[in-house]
Amino acid sequence: MSHDHADKFAFATRCIHAGQRPDPATKAITTPVYMTSTYVQDAPGEYVERYDYSRAANPTRSALEANLASLEGGRHGLAFASGVASIDAVIHLCKAGDRVLLSDDVYGGTFRLFKRVYEPMGIHITRVDMTDHDATRQALTDDVRLVWLETPTNPTLKIIDIAAIAEMVKKTEAVLAVDNTFATPALQLPLSLGADIISHSTTKYLGGHADLVGGALITDDDELLERLRFIQLSVGAVCGPMDAFLVLRSTKTLHLRMQRHCENAMRIAEHLDAHKKIEKVIYPGLKSHPQHEIAKKQMSGFGGIITCYVKGTIDDARRFVSDTKLFSLAESLGGVESLIEHPGIMTHASIPDAERAALGINDQLVRLSVGIEDVADQIADLDQALA
Ligand SMILES: *Cc1c(COP(=O)(O)O)cnc(C)c1O
Repeated sequence: MSHDHADKFAFATRCIHAGQRPDPATKAITTPVYMTSTYVQDAPGEYVERYDYSRAANPTRSALEANLASLEGGRHGLAFASGVASIDAVIHLCKAGDRVLLSDDVYGGTFRLFKRVYEPMGIHITRVDMTDHDATRQALTDDVRLVWLETPTNPTLKIIDIAAIAEMVKKTEAVLAVDNTFATPALQLPLSLGADIISHSTTKYLGGHADLVGGALITDDDELLERLRFIQLSVGAVCGPMDAFLVLRSTKTLHLRMQRHCENAMRIAEHLDAHKKIEKVIYPGLKSHPQHEIAKKQMSGFGGIITCYVKGTIDDARRFVSDTKLFSLAESLGGVESLIEHPGIMTHASIPDAERAALGINDQLVRLSVGIEDVADQIADLDQALA
């Protein structure tokens, strides 16, 4: 098989082969970890492709960038040192005086970056509930240059209709960026729905094994690629070769892992939904989810994250998250191992009380990142903790 032309293959095949070919030096089947800072030039200015210095390009990173681009159905990828580093690169497309429109419950680190680092430098910010299309249209003022949305959102798992927002944004000067960390390309393809840029925290499902921090951007637009590549080279928050290797190893099983995450999460969502100690379950795969129909339309699976409200007080919720044994009490998500957390006390503690309440993040709210262990063991663990 010619690995350079993997794009004609189905998703599972591209997971394993896209961007990778036997190493030209030895024909090693696995892309090596190129631990090098520089490259020998045949004559001044004469070097292979873009390989003059590893901040500009590194072969392990290039393989990952091509792999992720292929999985998202785009032509160009850029890999960063973290998810927020990739978001930071996108903000650099804006200048002082520009406005950014954010969906109202973006990842906390995303909001902190826009609000506390870039707003003081003159970039204006508006937040809007993008499930409300009229409100979104009104918020798309003339000065908006970047629209940033996340779907499903964290932790309340709202589903935003990407195609509908893309149609509005297309009529303006703004660029639409979608953070696809929660869904991954295995379940959702934002470029095909009209997004201009996709952002990832590869720390989560793409890495999938809780052993690295990384980020990536994917686009189909040549001009955006050139601008973002210039920003990546200039700002320098690149993905190192070892981390690039680990993500590449992980995307080979992305299709299988996501399938199991989705199957287990659906079973657990249904189980908790019927549990007498649980008040309410939020999972896009349940018919009771307010945007279930949009999720069915734009996603091929409903993901591995479940949010639920435990009956009682904060102490009941605290006891639930403390008493699980298989589900580890930890922040982050998307790994093969199951995690449980209390957003009000943990991941979303820095959000002011009033805003947290408005987003539905209260004392009873618990978030599960359902891993790929045996689902019967997972359910038994949740039951004993609730009992
Ligand atoms: C974790 C996360 C980020 C930030 O990524 P890091 O790798 O932690 O820098 C951004 N967006 C979403 C949706 C995330 O879950």
